[in-house]
Amino acid sequence: MTSSKSKPAAELLPSPRHRQSHNYPLLVRRWRTAVKAAGLKIREFARASGFPVLTIESRKPPDKARRIYLSAGIHGDEPAGCLALLDWIERNPKLARELDLRIFPCLNPWGLAHNKRSDELGRDLNRCYRDSAGSHTAAHISLLKNQHFDLALILHEDYDAQGCYIYETSNRRPHFAEKILSAMSRHIPPDPRRTIDGSRARMGVIRRRVSPETMPDWPEAFALHFFHAKRTLTIETPSEFSIHHRTAAHRAAIEAALHLIQ
Ligand SMILES: [Zn+2]
Repeated sequence: MTSSKSKPAAELLPSPRHRQSHNYPLLVRRWRTAVKAAGLKIREFARASGFPVLTIESRKPPDKARRIYLSAGIHGDEPAGCLALLDWIERNPKLARELDLRIFPCLNPWGLAHNKRSDELGRDLNRCYRDSAGSHTAAHISLLKNQHFDLALILHEDYDAQGCYIYETSNRRPHFAEKILSAMSRHIPPDPRRTIDGSRARMGVIRRRVSPETMPDWPEAFALHFFHAKRTLTIETPSEFSIHHRTAAHRAAIEAALHLIQ
């Protein structure tokens, strides 16, 4: 009879990569090394339960460089976006120097470290962009004051998803979502559902007009769409697929969107 204290079989353990995906201090060390190689600067702009909340930006972007906003990890149980941002910087130090970047590599470090959607007080930080409710999101909002971007990509994951999907809030043409999903489909196909999270969807694209009254509590994407970005896209990968594929799909989304905005 197997003792309850016996160790699980090695094949039942998560892969080493998965075990590292919620290790915030390790991710911070990797970000610090990656930004140095890419000529970016990194700094702490807030503290959340003892965790530094970081922002990364270009030092001296070339004139007329596209202004790009990238963020991940506002829901701590959605690690693939955080890993993909890191992966993308590590693989593209030269391209990173050609852009004007503002990156938030993990907006909820406590949640990431504890594999929780919320912050330590149970707040969904992605509903704190109209009223920050005393959270460190207030520091994020004030950092964005008077900031304008050509493109904002916000990286998320979804436990109910059956594939990748994208919210495209801007009506600018040409649309980006289909092309980004096509690049992501090398790793994970689009979500086939006709209704996703209450919205009508077509092969993984949710294109909806939003107004300040669409939702009482604004997500990050609303603040970007209303005040800061010409195009805002929220990228979603399915949480139950492998972390390797989800990370690769998010990285493909970043690469495709940056190619489209050039
Ligand atoms: Zn999310």
